[in-house]
Amino acid sequence: MDVKKLKAEIIQYATEIGVQKIGFTTADPFLFLKERLEVAEKEGVLTGFEHPVLDERVYPDLIFEEPKSIIAIALAYPSKLKESPTSKRESRRGVFARASWGIDYHTILREKLALIEAFILERVKDAKMKSMVDTGELSDVAVAERAGIGARGKNTLLITKEFGSWVYLGEMLTNIAFPPDTPETDLCGDCNKCVEACPTNSLLGEGAMNPKICLSYLTQTKGFLEEEYREVLHNRLYGCDTCQVVCPYNRGRDFHLHKEMEQDGNLVRPELKPLLHISNREFKEKFGSMAGSWRGKKPIQRNAIIILARYKDKTAIPDLIGCLNHDTRPVIRGTAAWALAKIGGKDAEVAILNAWEKEKDEEVKIEIERAKKIIGVG
Ligand code: SF4
Ligand code: SF4
Repeated sequence: MDVKKLKAEIIQYATEIGVQKIGFTTADPFLFLKERLEVAEKEGVLTGFEHPVLDERVYPDLIFEEPKSIIAIALAYPSKLKESPTSKRESRRGVFARASWGIDYHTILREKLALIEAFILERVKDAKMKSMVDTGELSDVAVAERAGIGARGKNTLLITKEFGSWVYLGEMLTNIAFPPDTPETDLCGDCNKCVEACPTNSLLGEGAMNPKICLSYLTQTKGFLEEEYREVLHNRLYGCDTCQVVCPYNRGRDFHLHKEMEQDGNLVRPELKPLLHISNREFKEKFGSMAGSWRGKKPIQRNAIIILARYKDKTAIPDLIGCLNHDTRPVIRGTAAWALAKIGGKDAEVAILNAWEKEKDEEVKIEIERAKKIIGVG
C-alpha cells in the first residue's frame, strides 16, 4: 500500500467534505499528558467529565489493537451570530457559549469522521479505525497538537493560525502507519491575555488550569453554585468564551462554513424569565439538539436565576417567588431565595421570610439564611 498517496487522497477528500484542517500523527503514548493528569488527579482538580481511566487517555494501544497512527481533524465554527437579539430591561437574556451554537458539534464531527472511515475502507479493506470526539479516551487537543493542526494555548485550547481557537476537534485511531506531520510550536509567546481575563482565575499560566473553577464547567454543574462564582457568572447560561474572545488569534475571526453550525439568536441568547417555567418537553424540543442541553434544564435554570439577580430585574420577582414557593428542586428554591434578596424590594423580602417558616430542606435553609442576611434581617 502506498501510504503517502493514500494520505494525500484522504487530505483531498477531507477538504471536499468540509474539514478545515487535517493532520496525522503516530500512535505513540502521550507521556507528557500522563504527568499532567497525574498531578491533576493528585490535586483533586479533575471535573469528573473526563474519561475516567487515566492510562487509556495516554496509551492508544490500551483502547485499540495495534494502533499505528492517528488522524486529527478540525472544523471551524462561527464566533458571531448573523442576527443577535438584544437584552432589554424587562426581557433580559442569557447566553450559550459558541461551542453550543447549532447542532451538537459531536454529531457533526462524528459524521465527518464516519465519511473518512468509509473512504479509507473503500481503499484498504482490512483497515481498522476508531473515531472519537471530545468524550473519547484520547485528548482532542493533545492529538491535534501533535498532528500539527495547531498549538495548545495558555487557555488550554488548541489554537490554529488560520481559524484561531474557534475549531471543533475530532480524531481517528487507525492500524495504517501514515507518515506523521510536524507538531506546531508555541503560538502564545509573551501573551498572557487569557490568563489575565479569566474571571475565576482558573487559568494558572503556562497552560496550567484548575478546571473545577472554570465557568465552562461550573455552568454545567447541577448543585448550588458557590456565591463567589455567582458574582462573576454575568450572563452565562452555558459555558464561557472569555479566554477565547480575548485571544489575539481569534480577533476578527468568524467562520460560517457549515450550515449545521448556524444558530437562531433567540435560542442561544434566550430570554431568562420564560426559562424558569419551561417544561422538560419544551426544553428538549427547543434546546435538545444543542450541545449546551446535555445536562438537562436544571443547570440552565439555576444560571438563569443567578443572571436575573445580577440584572436586579424587578419584573422577575413574581417568577422567582414562584420558584421559591413551588419548585420541587432544592437548588432552584435556594438559588431563587438568594436572587430575590439580591434584587430586593418588599415582595421579595416577604417571600423570603415566609419561605424561612416553611422550608424543610437543610441546603435551602442555608440559602434562605444567606438571603436574610443580604436583606438585613438575618
Ligand atoms: Fe476562565 Fe472562562 Fe476560560 Fe474557564 S472558559 S478558563 S472561566 S475564561
Ligand atoms: Fe495564548 Fe494569548 Fe491566546 Fe492566551 S490569549 S491562548 S496567551 S495567544
